[in-house]
Amino acid sequence: MEKIDFKNIVEQLDSVVLVVDYDYKIVYANSYFCSLFNTNCEMLSGKNVFDFLPEKSDTVVIKDYTYKITKYDDEFYSYYYLTIVDSQMEKVYSDFISTVSHELRTPLTSIRGFADTMLMSFDKLDKAQIQKFLGIIKEQSNRLIKLVENLLSISKIQVQQSNLVLKSVNAKSQIEQVLDIIKNQYPSHPFEFHCNDNVPNILADENKFQQIMINLLDNAAKYSYDRGSVKVTLANAQKENYVSIKVEDHGVGIEPDNLSRIFEKFTRIENHLTRKTQGSGLGLYIVKNLIEKMGGQIFVESSTVLPNSGSTFEIILPAATYTNQSKRALEDK
Ligand code: ADP
Repeated sequence: MEKIDFKNIVEQLDSVVLVVDYDYKIVYANSYFCSLFNTNCEMLSGKNVFDFLPEKSDTVVIKDYTYKITKYDDEFYSYYYLTIVDSQMEKVYSDFISTVSHELRTPLTSIRGFADTMLMSFDKLDKAQIQKFLGIIKEQSNRLIKLVENLLSISKIQVQQSNLVLKSVNAKSQIEQVLDIIKNQYPSHPFEFHCNDNVPNILADENKFQQIMINLLDNAAKYSYDRGSVKVTLANAQKENYVSIKVEDHGVGIEPDNLSRIFEKFTRIENHLTRKTQGSGLGLYIVKNLIEKMGGQIFVESSTVLPNSGSTFEIILPAATYTNQSKRALEDK
């Protein structure tokens, strides 16, 4: 059998490995450890381990990073193994697990419950009841599809896959299509659409632009009480060669302190309606990323001072002018 070069493997590891004798003297440290302490590996031999690591804690902070210390003992030596604990990542991961499990479990439980009821009591249910139950099953399936689509979007964003197909898009007709979908979902909200004259086409990915508008309009209706009106305005932006789209609601609004947090992933801000509404806290994170990838920006103004003062989200996207298209083509090269 081929001899395995363990020392070489340990040298390549992305974590700290340290071997210490019964006298707490270092007998071996891998290069990761030496580079972490800016020291020459040969100089370390014989030094006391507690000059570097704490005696009574299982974590240590080195150069702003927290490392978890794992220790194994055998007859002769102690083996220290340090791995980085990225608290930011851990938080994102635990938020992810709690949001996704809640967002998956709730619709699945509801779908199973209504399907069970129909299977067990099919003969006793009238047509209207069956129609109602099937409607709920469809609505909950749509909620699952939206969650899966959002999760796929963030995984694409994370691996920096820029699979956008940028072309000249007629924002007016796209917004009209999205409004038809949203009006169906929120029949009790009045929606208005104002489109200024002479607004040029935008340079955007058509599907992603629809995804952006669906998220913004869905939020505008979701975070407003029944009959809260939502206004969409399409106009030339103040910034030259850009188009502005504003979505204005008269809903619960967002506290100033929370305005920057709404674009973080898995972040839902507590308000009168978050408990009653469904959401994964991914929508605005995806919206912001997509807009920026298309060369645009998103702004928000909101107030909670007066009841129903509401929020206005404005996005600006490059107009499909010759200059913007050639600039983009150069950037993508
Ligand atoms: P979700 O709606 O799934 O919670 P989003 O990322 O779309 O996630 O939004 C993040 C948070 O921002 C929401 O939980 C909500 O608190 C707040 N928010 C977004 N849009 C609005 C709005 N139009 N009015 C009030 N709050 C909003």
